[in-house]
Amino acid sequence: MAGKPTALIAGAGFAGLTAATALAQRGWKVTVFERQAELRASGAGIYIWENGLRILEALGLSDLSKNAYRGHAMEQRGHDNAILDDGGLPPQVRLVTLHRRDLLEGLKGAAERAGVEIRTGQEVIGAGAQGELLFANRRSVQGDLVIGADGVWSSIRKSLGLELSHQQTTEGAIRTIIEGDIEDLGQGGEDKYIECWSGMRRFLITPLAGRQIYLALTCQDTDEKGRAYPLDKATWRASFPAWAHLIDRIGDVLAWSPYSIVTVKSWSAGRAAILGDAAHAQPPNLGQGGGMAMQSALALAAHMEDLADPRDIPARLAAWEKNERPLAEHCQRWSCLYGEVSTLPDDVRARAVPSAMADPWVRSELLRAARSEPTGT
Ligand SMILES: Cc1cc2nc3c(=O)[nH]c(=O)nc-3n(C[C@H](O)[C@H](O)[C@H](O)COP(=O)(O)OP(=O)(O)OC[C@H]3O[C@@H](n4cnc5c(N)ncnc54)[C@H](O)[C@@H]3O)c2cc1C
Repeated sequence: MAGKPTALIAGAGFAGLTAATALAQRGWKVTVFERQAELRASGAGIYIWENGLRILEALGLSDLSKNAYRGHAMEQRGHDNAILDDGGLPPQVRLVTLHRRDLLEGLKGAAERAGVEIRTGQEVIGAGAQGELLFANRRSVQGDLVIGADGVWSSIRKSLGLELSHQQTTEGAIRTIIEGDIEDLGQGGEDKYIECWSGMRRFLITPLAGRQIYLALTCQDTDEKGRAYPLDKATWRASFPAWAHLIDRIGDVLAWSPYSIVTVKSWSAGRAAILGDAAHAQPPNLGQGGGMAMQSALALAAHMEDLADPRDIPARLAAWEKNERPLAEHCQRWSCLYGEVSTLPDDVRARAVPSAMADPWVRSELLRAARSEPTGT
């Protein structure tokens, strides 16, 4: 090729910044166009599993995990706070939790160090299969490769005609971060995360580094008290009395919102690709939406290694999708399946969870993505 190949990316979230950095590290000239006036992570905390940690390491971000909280178990408890499963993780599967802001800042820094240009306040409205990116002000730019990493409502996915379905779940989450320590998790609370079920509600307790605890409170859309904003603490204390001391500490919250499940015909059209939530949004039950977003992003860059002719891009994108899509869709399926646990009556769940988690096949399917070796690492 005469000059560097060029990539235009819509969206500076986890997917867009990972793809940008990984392409730039492979000699591409990359520009990211972000709608917001500044890069902002929506949400509170985030789980990053072994696969995501390997990706961060490949991007040169090992320090992020070193400074994160590391849990060794994802314990599950029933409506009476009894332990249903200790959720112990195999030693080779690391799991850390981070403030989303720190992850986004880390990825932004890596992109800038790799020479990526990030342009904010740029609303993209679509893309063309020849590598065009179209903006709300009717301007367009042309690259060798264009990537839609513009999240669940992706306009690039729609403009390319790739969308099959975008469904929103009846379950949704309220999220917040409070001050707190592992002592707040009670005896034996060290190095673990705790997921509690009660009726159709869930209370997920996630320590972060720096004396902070990320809380996720999930319930159905029909649960008016549960989803109320501002938070109705009394109703949540009644569901989870053992955790009243944490609920009392909650200040402002991110209002209840449902999850998206996106299915698509293909991950690309010509020289345009979609990735992350734009291509495979999933409920957060496995904590792998962001992991999968970064995984497909890094893999895309790895499939573009040593590109000699831009005319090869469509075939490379097809190979990328063939390789990566099965795992992303596995996570999506298992995450949806896991969500069904919240619809079980308490007594049925108290039997079903220990029995399912005792099955090595179930455990291994739940951890399939975490154990995978991401392409490009
Ligand atoms: C409650 C909840 C908990 C979760 N917990 C976890 C977890 O613990 N671990 C995990 O791995 N995942 C988790 N996820 C999933 C994770 O947040 C997403 O999968 C991840 O953010 C997807 O990254 P993305 O870059 O594809 O999309 P996004 O993070 O949505 O980023 C898209 C970017 O594109 C920008 N954009 C959008 N439209 C345009 C446009 N038209 N033009 C230009 N820019 C645009 C947006 O402003 C944004 O910056 C959770 C999700 C939810 C809802």
